[in-house]
Amino acid sequence: MKQNHITGYFEKMLDNCYDYVENAKKEGRPVVGIMCEYTPRELIMAAGAVPVCLCGGSADTISCAERDLPNNLCPLIKSTYGYHVEKSNPFLEWADLVVAETTCDGKKKMFELMGEKRPLYILELTQKTNDREALGHWTAELRKLKAELERRFSVRINREKILRATEAMNRERFLKRRLAELMKKDNPPLTGRQLLDLKSIISCIPEDLRQYEKILEFLENKQEDPRGDARVRVLLTGTPLVHGAERVMDIIEKYGGLVVCAENCTGVKPVLEDVDIKEKDLIKALAEKYFRHPCSVMTPNDSRFGQISSLVGEYKARCVIELVWQTCLTYDVESFYVKKLCREKLGIPYLKIQTDYSPSDTARIVSRIEALFETVRARTSINLLALPGE
Ligand code: SF4
Ligand code: SF4
Repeated sequence: MKQNHITGYFEKMLDNCYDYVENAKKEGRPVVGIMCEYTPRELIMAAGAVPVCLCGGSADTISCAERDLPNNLCPLIKSTYGYHVEKSNPFLEWADLVVAETTCDGKKKMFELMGEKRPLYILELTQKTNDREALGHWTAELRKLKAELERRFSVRINREKILRATEAMNRERFLKRRLAELMKKDNPPLTGRQLLDLKSIISCIPEDLRQYEKILEFLENKQEDPRGDARVRVLLTGTPLVHGAERVMDIIEKYGGLVVCAENCTGVKPVLEDVDIKEKDLIKALAEKYFRHPCSVMTPNDSRFGQISSLVGEYKARCVIELVWQTCLTYDVESFYVKKLCREKLGIPYLKIQTDYSPSDTARIVSRIEALFETVRARTSINLLALPGE
C-alpha cells in the first residue's frame, strides 16, 4: 500500500455500499434508514437488517426541499428531504423503514412530512442527561424499537443476535479510534480530510473492516516524518460534515490548518466509548452508551465540554473551530459555552463558522480562518516558511 492509495477503497464508498445493499436485498435482508448517531445500529443489525445513514450532504437537492420546507432550515435536513422528494437517493428508496429520531425540532417535523409517503418509526430521544427516569425512558424506547423491528420484519431478536451485532460495532469503533489516534502524532500520516474519508454510510461491512486493518498496519508501522509540521493543529467541533458537505474542512486544510481531531458525529464522538458486552441486559448496555453521547440536543450537555478539553490536550490542538450549520439552534446557542471554555479554561483561540451547503461565502470563511491561523502562529511563533515542501 502506498501513502497516496490509502483512501483508494473508500473513494468508491457509495458504490461499495450500493453493491452491499443490492446483495443484501437479493438475500431478503431489509434496509433501515437512520439519521442520527443516537440510533443503535446494533439493534437493526440484530434484526438481520442493514442500517444506512441517510443524512444528505448535497446542495443540489435543497431547492426542491424548499417547496415544502422553510428556507431558513438546516441544510442537512433540507438536503435529506430533497432526496426524499426527488426519490434520488437509492438507499432511501430501498429503505423498508426509516427511524425518525426526535433530536432537533427541524428534523422531527421534517420526518412528519416524510412519513406521509414512507414507513417511519419514531424513536423518542429523552433529553435530560442527569435524570435517571430519562435513562429509564430511553431504555424503554430501545425495547420498543426492538419490538417494532421484530414485528415489522417477522424476526426474533435474542441476546445472542444483539451480542454478535454489538461485538461487530465495538470492533468497528475500536478500529476507527485507532485511526483517529494516528492524528495525535507530531507529524500525522493523514490529513483530517483523508481520515474523514475513511468512512461508510453502512456500518460493519466486512470489507470495510479489513481495509481499516490494512491501513492501520501500514500507517502504524510507518516511520514518522522527522521534519517539523508547521500546519496549525485544529480541533473541529459542532455539527457533522456528512458525505458531500466537507467544504469547511477542505478550506481549513487548504489554508494552512490540519484537522487533528473532529469532535463531532462524523468524527470521534460516536467511537470514543464502546458498549459493555459484559452487561447481562444488552439493551440496557446499549441505552447507557448512546444516552451518554454528548449532542447539543441534550440539556445540560456538560460532558461535551469535558470531552473537548481532553481531546484538545490529547491531540495537541492549537485552536478550536466550531462548524454550525445555519439555523442549527442547539449547536448555535451551545457555542456560547464552547467559546467560553476555549478562552477561559483552555486558553486557545476559538472561531465559529456558520454556513450552509452553498459555496457563496467561501471567501469570507477563508479570510476568517486565515486571521485565526495568524493569531495562532503569532502565539506559538511557528514560522510559515518552514512548511515542508515550500
Ligand atoms: S449532531 Fe446530534 S442530532 Fe446530529 S447526528 Fe449527531 S447526535 Fe444526532
Ligand atoms: S445540524 Fe442541527 S439542525 Fe441540523 S439536523 Fe443536526 S441537530 Fe438538527
